[in-house]
Amino acid sequence: MVVKNICCLGAGYVGGPTCSVIASKCPEIKVTVVDKSVTRIAQWNSEKLPIYEPGLDEIVKARRGKNLFFSNNIEKAILEADLIFISVNTPTKTFGNGKGRAADLKYVEGAARMIADIAKSNKIVVEKSTVPVRAAESIMNILKANNEPGVSYQILSNPEFLAEGTAIQDLMHPDRVLIGGEETPEGQLAIEELCSIYEHWIPRKSILTTNTWSSELSKLAANAMLAQRISSINSLSAVCEATGADVSEVAVAIGLDSRIGPKFLQASIGGSCFQKDILNLVYICESLSLPEVAAYWQQVIDMNEYQKTRFTAKVVQSLFNTVSGKNITLLGFAFKKNTGDTRESPAIHVAKTLLDEGASLNIYDPKVEESQILYDLTHPSICESPEEVKKLVKIYPDAYSATNGAHAVVICTEWDEFVTLDYREIYRSMMKPAYIFDGRKILDHEELINIGFHVQTIGKRLPRPLSTRMWSGTAVV
Ligand code: NAD
Repeated sequence: MVVKNICCLGAGYVGGPTCSVIASKCPEIKVTVVDKSVTRIAQWNSEKLPIYEPGLDEIVKARRGKNLFFSNNIEKAILEADLIFISVNTPTKTFGNGKGRAADLKYVEGAARMIADIAKSNKIVVEKSTVPVRAAESIMNILKANNEPGVSYQILSNPEFLAEGTAIQDLMHPDRVLIGGEETPEGQLAIEELCSIYEHWIPRKSILTTNTWSSELSKLAANAMLAQRISSINSLSAVCEATGADVSEVAVAIGLDSRIGPKFLQASIGGSCFQKDILNLVYICESLSLPEVAAYWQQVIDMNEYQKTRFTAKVVQSLFNTVSGKNITLLGFAFKKNTGDTRESPAIHVAKTLLDEGASLNIYDPKVEESQILYDLTHPSICESPEEVKKLVKIYPDAYSATNGAHAVVICTEWDEFVTLDYREIYRSMMKPAYIFDGRKILDHEELINIGFHVQTIGKRLPRPLSTRMWSGTAVV
């Protein structure tokens, strides 16, 4: 079989960009991305796409209506497809067995059942969602138990390693593509079919093929190892603040060791999109009766929580231990720059703590919609009184209006535009003493201190503004 028709179930942060790049690199293949959400598909078919990724608009505009389609007609797309990507969400379970840790596979299961109900010809089904090890087995069981006579399936695992904010770059030039499949002749053939799609733009040596379980576990393992690096440097940032060392200097010094390497050693406020996958890994380890392994990875998550809590406590403490009635500006709400995604964003944690302490919040993010911010902050897991939150939170269209009259500014996302703001102007318009808490270590702290700000950041002690020092040199905020 030569793949001519691809269907992708799930038009989200992974399905949308991945299929747009496939359509752009394989003009002879028809790619249809389907979703249950009518709104999401309408947005993919509009001028304003539902997600922001640098470079995505151009690709979608070039291929949409030619060989790239976004549709709610799931049945038609499944019937036509030779190969189906399952790219649906796998959030953490919020109830029942494994609540708060295990991956909720209800959407993956729903997708498998849809394929089984609809398909009338052989299909290669590709698990792109991040799933627990041996999820492919469950998908196969559903497909086999429900298939039409004469229809056969091959299940592949093809986890996605893209990072939001750089999705297009990551998809165009991946470090590797990983494909896992059955070690049978049919399994190997299916692997070859998927390889031939990626080979349109990725050299064969960068396409790694493994057995299904190695592929599934590698995705969780990669995220766990990356999160571990961040938790390690964040743990050291606390030591730096307590000793006078500077975590940026420490990161450079250790990163120059080629056994360690320089990437992913940036200390920050904490929070990342890895949490759900590591929680899932912890849960799997417990289910496999490996409590020591589970405890090891749990500590990576705990350190991430500690970092967020530590940072927010510092904000409250610095503002004379009370933020009640004070206006605090959060610059950035997305979990990282160049995306509008707020899932697991540390800004939510910061906002919640400050709201609990009675602060009023002014929030500005270049790419997150007001409705999303209010949705996140009024979610039942975050607050008990949505009406109260709506009274205390104001969303602004730019950083200057958001900081006007504020007691403190907290940098929650490392958007480039925050680096080049006119901080003299901002200082003039703020209440005094004016505070900046740089949770992302992106600002020129010396310049801010010279302007008159009290500045706090992660992993480094900073001097007070000159005008407030009682004696020179030694005082710290
Ligand atoms: P998402 O929430 O943005 O998108 C998932 C989409 O699937 C939603 O639009 C939902 O409506 C749709 N959906 C659910 N069930 C469906 C069904 N039966 N049929 C059709 N559509 C259905 O999620 P995402 O961020 O794209 O993540 C998808 C998967 O990829 C997850 O497992 C995630 O862990 C993994 N992943 C995400 C990233 C990332 O950076 N976002 C990176 C790598 C891997």
